[in-house]
Amino acid sequence: MSVLIFVDTAEGHVKKASLEVLSYGAKVAEQLGTTAEGVVLGNATEDLAALGKFGVKKIHQVNNEQLAHLDAQVYTNVIAQVAAATGATVIVFSNNVDGKAIAPRLSAKLKAGLVSGAVALPETANGFIVKKSVFSGKAFAHVSIHSAIKIIALNPNAYQVTEGQGSAEVMAFNATVPTPKVKVTNVSKASGEVPLTEAEIVVSAGRGMKGPENWGIIEDLAKALHAATACSRPVADAHWRPHHEHVGQTGIAIAPNLYIAIGISGAIQHLAGVNRSKVIVVINKDPEAPFFKAADYGIVGDAFEVVPQLTAAIKKLKGVA
Ligand SMILES: Cc1cc2nc3c(=O)[nH]c(=O)nc-3n(C[C@H](O)[C@H](O)[C@H](O)COP(=O)(O)OP(=O)(O)OC[C@H]3O[C@@H](n4cnc5c(N)ncnc54)[C@H](O)[C@@H]3O)c2cc1C
Repeated sequence: MSVLIFVDTAEGHVKKASLEVLSYGAKVAEQLGTTAEGVVLGNATEDLAALGKFGVKKIHQVNNEQLAHLDAQVYTNVIAQVAAATGATVIVFSNNVDGKAIAPRLSAKLKAGLVSGAVALPETANGFIVKKSVFSGKAFAHVSIHSAIKIIALNPNAYQVTEGQGSAEVMAFNATVPTPKVKVTNVSKASGEVPLTEAEIVVSAGRGMKGPENWGIIEDLAKALHAATACSRPVADAHWRPHHEHVGQTGIAIAPNLYIAIGISGAIQHLAGVNRSKVIVVINKDPEAPFFKAADYGIVGDAFEVVPQLTAAIKKLKGVA
């Protein structure tokens, strides 16, 4: 019996979401009186032993060229092998893009109950009950898992990273890696330096910007904050911005530490994709805009006046010209 945590990496680096699941999985292991172990697929360039600070005792690394890019079928197969070898009874993923692709497949393969979108530690005193977010964060469900193997996909930003002392034993795991049915031939970044789903800070804008020619001030602010850019759906539909920037119910769901919404009204379908952000700042000229109800901080004002001033103030604070 052990808790196995999938440690997600990008370009060799451990993602922040993985630190959250490592901390979470270690706590679950503590609750169950067992140990937490991590699994890393591909060539991680980071010091994996250092992940012991987040509570894992062992890291199983499967370093194989076929694992350089996520292939959900191949990853599922390999993780199943690691789970069998380690006798994992609880397997934890981040409910991010990779976790959403792998966890359901692994659940089917291992005949394991899966709770995706978990937001809290499981209650283990009487059974195994996981609290999850439902209806785009409007409600919570408590789900009891009865299968021998249990899989949890934890929502990003739902659990605090806890860093302590310690070092993990890094072990090479000799897996049989199946030949992928598809092959990634080329990867080119869509835009900007910071991927939207991984960004700590997101600067997002809506129809209040009037047209694509005005996005310069949004990009300047994003650059000053080292943030990713996003947009509301009508903006993407009108081709003012690319579709991969569209956040919301029908777009990407994100959970950055800081979400700055500029000239966005705050329709429920937009909020559905951003309401897990830790801090929300709204800039809108209409004091009655619904977004202010969801905001931690609000600026009532014209974006064309407020945003350049904000960018200048941030640059001054950072000592950048
Ligand atoms: C089934 C369905 C799914 C949907 N999915 C999504 C989704 O995933 N994501 C999404 O975003 N929407 C989605 N929508 C659309 C959603 O309902 C809203 O229509 C949309 O979010 C509004 O976009 P907006 O806030 O950019 O534009 P608007 O509603 O037009 O709001 C523009 C805002 O800008 C402000 N403004 C104007 N000028 C300025 C200025 N100079 N300075 C500051 N503020 C200014 C206005 O006061 C206003 O609040 C969906 C709708 C449906 C029916």
